[in-house]
Amino acid sequence: MTMLRLATLWLDGCSGCHMSLLDTDERLLDLAAMYEFVHSPLVDSKHFPEAADVVLIEGAVSSHEDVARLRLARHHSRLLIAVGDCAVTGNVPALRNATGAAAMLRTVYLDQPALNPQIPATDLPVLLELALPLHHFVTVDLFIPGCPPGAETLLTALTGLAAGTVPGPPLSTRFGA
Ligand code: SF4
Repeated sequence: MTMLRLATLWLDGCSGCHMSLLDTDERLLDLAAMYEFVHSPLVDSKHFPEAADVVLIEGAVSSHEDVARLRLARHHSRLLIAVGDCAVTGNVPALRNATGAAAMLRTVYLDQPALNPQIPATDLPVLLELALPLHHFVTVDLFIPGCPPGAETLLTALTGLAAGTVPGPPLSTRFGA
């Protein structure tokens, strides 16, 4: 079997979706036989590679930096997968959309400086007014909902893709599960 090049990206998420991937435990060794991890917070690589076969993306798109990283990943990846409810719908990061970025920043960093005395607001990433799911910016090839999707679900999807099949919609997961 040809090894596929696998990348993962962490945008505005809590890392729970990446933890779910680690939750495959010893079956990570099975994945390692199918995939070469070419970029991921789990392998501490700094730059997105020239070519990935599959990229799993966790988190909503909340900042200009997120947009740039997402577009770079799309440009260099054959198959882009939105992993988890934040990437699929916006989920938790999108809770701020009711008031918008400016009001949220004012509430968190200016109105309550005692909570964040060491972070000047000017050092924060430049936020988009709304936190949005991936498909608002790029073409997404597969959506895997769940908060987070279970390890078994990720394993099923990655095993299927390595075998040349595209996983079907149920994927034994559901929103918020
Ligand atoms: S979908 Fe859930 S687990 Fe995944 S990044 Fe969002 S909040 Fe965290």
